[in-house]
Amino acid sequence: MVQFNDHLANERLSELRHEEEERVIATQAAQYGYPYINLNGYTINPNALSEIPEAVARGASAVAFERAGAQIKVAVKNPSLPEVATMLTQLQNKKLVPAIYMCSSKSLDHAWERYRDLSITSAKKRGVFDFDPENIARFSTAVRAATDVADIMKSIGTINNARRITETLELTFAGALSLGASDIHIEPEDGGIRLRYRLNGVLRDIVDIDAGLYSRLMSRLKLLAGMTLNKKLGAQDGRFTFSMGEHEIEVRVSVIPAALGESVVMRLLDPSVASFSLDKLQLSDIMLRVMKVELKKKTGMIITSGPTGSGKTTALYAFLREKHTENTKIITIENPIEYKLDGIVQTQVSEDYTFASGLRSILRQDPNVIMVGEIRDSEVAETAVRAAQTGHLVFTTLHTNNAVGGFARLTNLGVDPRIFKSAINIMLGQRLIRLLCPQCKTTKPASENERTIVERVLSDHPEPPTIPSPLTLHIPGPGCALCSMSGYKGRIGIFEAILMDDAVEEAILRDPREQVILEAAMPQKIPSMTHDGMVKVLCGDTSFEELERVVELPRRADDPLP
Ligand SMILES: [Zn+2]
Repeated sequence: MVQFNDHLANERLSELRHEEEERVIATQAAQYGYPYINLNGYTINPNALSEIPEAVARGASAVAFERAGAQIKVAVKNPSLPEVATMLTQLQNKKLVPAIYMCSSKSLDHAWERYRDLSITSAKKRGVFDFDPENIARFSTAVRAATDVADIMKSIGTINNARRITETLELTFAGALSLGASDIHIEPEDGGIRLRYRLNGVLRDIVDIDAGLYSRLMSRLKLLAGMTLNKKLGAQDGRFTFSMGEHEIEVRVSVIPAALGESVVMRLLDPSVASFSLDKLQLSDIMLRVMKVELKKKTGMIITSGPTGSGKTTALYAFLREKHTENTKIITIENPIEYKLDGIVQTQVSEDYTFASGLRSILRQDPNVIMVGEIRDSEVAETAVRAAQTGHLVFTTLHTNNAVGGFARLTNLGVDPRIFKSAINIMLGQRLIRLLCPQCKTTKPASENERTIVERVLSDHPEPPTIPSPLTLHIPGPGCALCSMSGYKGRIGIFEAILMDDAVEEAILRDPREQVILEAAMPQKIPSMTHDGMVKVLCGDTSFEELERVVELPRRADDPLP
């Protein structure tokens, strides 16, 4: 007698049985007058799937697999079941227009699997998602350089569908954390789906994700972040958290419609990584002296300015830490709260708690120190200025290029320059520059042109360092495990500041051109961002090219100074 318990024989048999079932269903479909569909390997549209609850779908041996507007495609095994009629009525009550297809039980089993993607998130508390800690640990150990992510992604590609989305995400997040990425970008492009990490402030291509995975990946991410699944035309924001060991990692997700599909940016916030202190800012000696005096004051405004991603929040948090003592009440209003700070009351703007209304409520709480995340409109500007004039120390940020630009910005926001002196203590400007990897950085002799530029930039430094001769510059090395083969490791701020003194006030009121204000501030002897950065180039903390990327340097020896 033939033994059918052999593994291979069984497998072949069930394959034949499935093929036979597909053939039978295809024939029946033709007889009933319905189109036949094979859903094996088909990417089920989650927007369709979620329209029929899993229990109803299983009860009717049916599944919704495609949807465009009100049109919804539903596959059933047996169209004459009474449950099918009930289900179709429910869909029609939702103003959906179902089109019926016939499919096999294997197709249904495959499609029903997709409910797991939906339920993983809806079953758990919304916005909280548990990755498998063992997978995360395995991936983060395995990822040592950016190229490792691509290799592991390839091996995930061979596992079955149900686990694939989860593991792709686990790898994406574990890899990002392991390499110290601040953001994850997923961008549909002509050739495929590009995954990029922002490492030390610079976007880096990591791997192309299989295009077939994209729509399910998007659905999972949107569910995690509490977004609407079928809103494809507008931008959406959301957030979720996951635990990694002892850490709670927060992910802030932003989705925008792009030419070839939705584009995603996820910012990773690890509150345990962020410990803020003045020391960690690594201010130059001069800036540190200035800030220590400023942080002792009890009223007035400390304003820092710079474009998005210039480290403004980090600086303000470090300043707040410095002010934080038992008898000081500190309240912040932020959009959103980026890190939780112990012992400080942090509030976050929302629809009915705006910067302006929030700030007014905060003032009624009698704080000593207030941090206003950003001044963007005249109402907030006015309230913040008034708070500073009435016995509060106010920390805030402005979106301008440099310190001197802050004065014009406030004027444009309707603040009378005649009250600057009574409200503002100091205006800071800042940028972030990447630090050379201490392990693999290397050197080269400065070119004639580079030497001249270094000399010219430092010629008006208030306390110029000695420029060695011959001059050697540090440059990124070949890359190593420490810097994930990028040549850079970590970032640091470069700062400048203008104190609001009589001479600066006089200049602002007489002739508020930036050059005039800067000249008036010269006697303060505070280095500019370019000065600060050039000193860091001489020390070998960063490269000449990196400083050039971040600030405007004279390009050639005979160029005028910017
Ligand atoms: Zn290195």
